Amino acid sequence: MTNKKTVRTRVAPSPTGAPHIGTAYIALFNYAFAKKHDGEFILRIEDTDQTRSTSESETEIFDALKWVGINADESPAAGGPKGPYRQSERTDIYRKHCNMLVENDKAYPCFCSSERLTELRKEQLAAKEMVGYDGLCSTLSKEDAQKRIDNGESYVIRMRVPESGDCVFNDRLRGEISIPWTQVDQQVLMKSDGFPTYHLANVVDDHLMEISHVIRGEEWINSTPKHVLLYQHFGWDRPEFVHLPLLRNPDQSKLSKRKNPTSILYYQRAGYLPQAVLNYLGLMGYSMPDGSEIFSLDQFIESFDIDRISLGGPIFDLQKLANFNGQYLRELTPDSLLGELKTWNLNDDMWKEVIPLAQPRLKTLADLMPMATFLFTDKLEYATEELLNNQIDAERATRLLKISQWELEKIVNWHGDTIQETIGNISEKEDIKTKKLLAMFFVAITGKKVSLPLFNSMMLLGRDLVLRRIHYALENLATDGTVLSGKKLKKLQKEYNSLYGNRS
Ligand code: GLU
Repeated sequence: MTNKKTVRTRVAPSPTGAPHIGTAYIALFNYAFAKKHDGEFILRIEDTDQTRSTSESETEIFDALKWVGINADESPAAGGPKGPYRQSERTDIYRKHCNMLVENDKAYPCFCSSERLTELRKEQLAAKEMVGYDGLCSTLSKEDAQKRIDNGESYVIRMRVPESGDCVFNDRLRGEISIPWTQVDQQVLMKSDGFPTYHLANVVDDHLMEISHVIRGEEWINSTPKHVLLYQHFGWDRPEFVHLPLLRNPDQSKLSKRKNPTSILYYQRAGYLPQAVLNYLGLMGYSMPDGSEIFSLDQFIESFDIDRISLGGPIFDLQKLANFNGQYLRELTPDSLLGELKTWNLNDDMWKEVIPLAQPRLKTLADLMPMATFLFTDKLEYATEELLNNQIDAERATRLLKISQWELEKIVNWHGDTIQETIGNISEKEDIKTKKLLAMFFVAITGKKVSLPLFNSMMLLGRDLVLRRIHYALENLATDGTVLSGKKLKKLQKEYNSLYGNRS
């Protein structure tokens, strides 16, 4: 009897922002592949970047995957035999493994300062050379290195990389891939703060969690040689690699929030059905053997064949998704549609929030709905003049809106107070009276000059829909001729970074 290895796949998002639609796409294909082969699907949180990871973002990832209906067999929330499933709880494991590499001379301590590395990078760029570490510390003797460590010098651990030859590995969809070792940097594995980098933690975890197939986005192909080398250094079998094509905007560029909403929570708030979103994602780079376009998750799994994935960049088209969603809605019975509306937003929880805000402004009961409709809409209709209200010119409005978008996006704890603080800070930095700024925001967010209290409204709408409303306001201005072109946007971003501190 052959002892066939259990199929185990994983999705490994980093909790550093809104849950990305690409995460749901990767999760879906991993899930389908595992389930098709009676295997297990794991959700691992890769939070080794301590400066950018937040628990709010992690919770949003859990919520978003739950919303689309993908449930992991093992995860930080569900637990499991190979846990913990959150990398920040596994630092000892990485340290132990990193030490093993150093002991076997597969990795070495590097003491180079960030100033030296910046200088090196500059020189390499000027000489049009490959940018990367030059190996200065790789020749230090073990004794010298130990002395410097004992003296308290700060250091990182880097991996040794062959100086010549090619790294050859197989990708299930692409066949053999060959990348010259000279293109592979002597990657930092352990940072000076004792936290591992993505590469080390990812490989150690995939091995210890017995991941059989690494199914991830194609942006990781160039990192794969580092992973292949780590498997080799550790003496481990490597998993099978499957790199999925990246989702693209309709203009073929990489899916980006500048052109498409990328947060899963936006789709939830904007009234999409999770099964329609998941179904649409199932068509990204994939077609059902029988050509059907509408299918359930079970049907998808049933006929799933990973080798049918095509590599041409799949286009994530919002219009198509909306049409799809419409088809789903039309299939529902009125009763189940009502159920969906309630699950969405039309429920007592929402009204309990809205009514106290509306009450002081009501003359009749009939005044409520017009006041509240903006909370149940995606795009609002208003004239650009209303946005500007003879108070701000279009150029300035564009700048203010773009900066607000960046600033609001940074808020970790989305709450009335934090929103108010952020907008107050913008009005100060931009030297504009808060009243004027708020007048513009009222129109952008609620579609009206007067409405329910702004900060509460923004809180109720949620970050993703607020950011989208600002996007629509910018689109409005662009249609009227005030376009934030690539060049202008770059300039603004630079100014913004120096005035507001770098965006994380
Ligand atoms: N943490 C990586 C990400 O955020 C995971 C990449 C991988 O699947 O190896 O996409």
